[in-house]
Amino acid sequence: MYDWLIVGAGFAGSVLAERIAAERDQSVLIIDRRPHIAGNAYDKYDDAGVLMHQYGPHIFHTNSDQIVDYLSKFTEWRKYEHRVLGMIDGKTVPIPINRTTINALYDLDLKTDEEAQAFLDSRAEPVETIKTSEDVVVSKIGRELYEKFFKGYTTKQWGLDPSELDKSVTSRVPTRTNTDDRYFTDTHQCMPKHGYTRMFERMLSHPNIKIMLNADYREIRDEIPHRRLIFTGPIDEFFDFRFGRLPYRSLKFKHVTLDQEKYQETGTVNYPMSEDYTRISEYKHLTGQEHHKTTITYEYPSATGDPYYPIPRDENQALYKKYQALAMQTENVHFVGRLATYRYYNMDQVVGQALAEFRRIQEQVPLWTGV
Ligand code: FAD
Ligand code: UDP
Repeated sequence: MYDWLIVGAGFAGSVLAERIAAERDQSVLIIDRRPHIAGNAYDKYDDAGVLMHQYGPHIFHTNSDQIVDYLSKFTEWRKYEHRVLGMIDGKTVPIPINRTTINALYDLDLKTDEEAQAFLDSRAEPVETIKTSEDVVVSKIGRELYEKFFKGYTTKQWGLDPSELDKSVTSRVPTRTNTDDRYFTDTHQCMPKHGYTRMFERMLSHPNIKIMLNADYREIRDEIPHRRLIFTGPIDEFFDFRFGRLPYRSLKFKHVTLDQEKYQETGTVNYPMSEDYTRISEYKHLTGQEHHKTTITYEYPSATGDPYYPIPRDENQALYKKYQALAMQTENVHFVGRLATYRYYNMDQVVGQALAEFRRIQEQVPLWTGV
């Protein structure tokens, strides 16, 4: 009898496994249907010996000291500020759009924030109620820049026009009037020094934790006695799609190792206006690894395949709410993480959510003893 069965060895499951094992001194079996731990953050040395991310580039960034302090128990860090270029009208320009981007695209010499703001204001289109991913961009920077930077990328990435997506999606990418060309501005921006998988190994190395890989919850749920369950997979799957399928967007990754030291100028180059893929990322920028070869990944959005992204729009949220209501009535089961709570969360937000869930468990779930 395990005290806890945890489904999914990504951030949500692994943080809770560690907390429960270390703080409650209870037994945990953590399972994953994939052949490895670390969920979508899984990284590995490929056949050429280059450290790469199997599920696309993962850059850690957060404003929370508490989350960094927690993860720092399991890893040292390498400082890394991600930069992204976009291939726009045959030029490579910084993304998010900043003053340098505007000057390069329009052959201007705007020198101050005020000048850049005036340029954007002159193009912005008033939108009465800002609801969609189109509204939020067009109202700030106008239709032309929206079409160059956002429309094509978003349509590829989500299989939907930005007007059909919640404003929160494109709001993730700001527009700047200064010349800060970093993708993120969080106070902490770093990569686990020896990779994510190594960090997860250390997180899960507690003697109270057992790991079972290549194991789907459905296959083992009746075989493994447990008192409580933490589920971090897709919530609709847990309930056998009772109300219908929640849409998740997937990606196909094409990983290529090249016999050259460097492929591109920055960690990621986006292709908003052309190509079937959305972006190409080169890991050596992120990891700082020195190697005579380099590995890059192309991301091709796809309607089928592993669920990676919940799709933020009203009708999906309404369907999720039905599953959430069911989840709240389901005793002794906790739903945590990007797939189980249907939230477009970054890694740090999932860690924060898991730590908050642990605090609730401490308050509400009595410590039982004996089998
Ligand atoms: P996951 O990592 O998906 O883990 C869930 C695990 O549960 C999976 O391993 C799955 O196999 C397992 N599972 C599901 N169902 C079952 C079942 N029935 N039985 C057994 N196992 C099951 N975030 C950032 O902060 N920075 C980034 O740069 C960044 N880049 C990203 C790039 C891409 C391409 C993607 C897709 C995501 C990116 N993210 C990034 C988001 C990040 O991946 C997630 O926030 C994080 O991995 C979510 O952790 P999780 O534990 O909720 O889910
Ligand atoms: N986006 C865009 N053009 C870009 C970059 C992003 O239109 O060059 C939009 C797109 O809809 C994308 C969203 O902004 O899905 C969020 O971008 P982010 O880089 O945060 O995506 P993620 O890394 O989560 O895939």
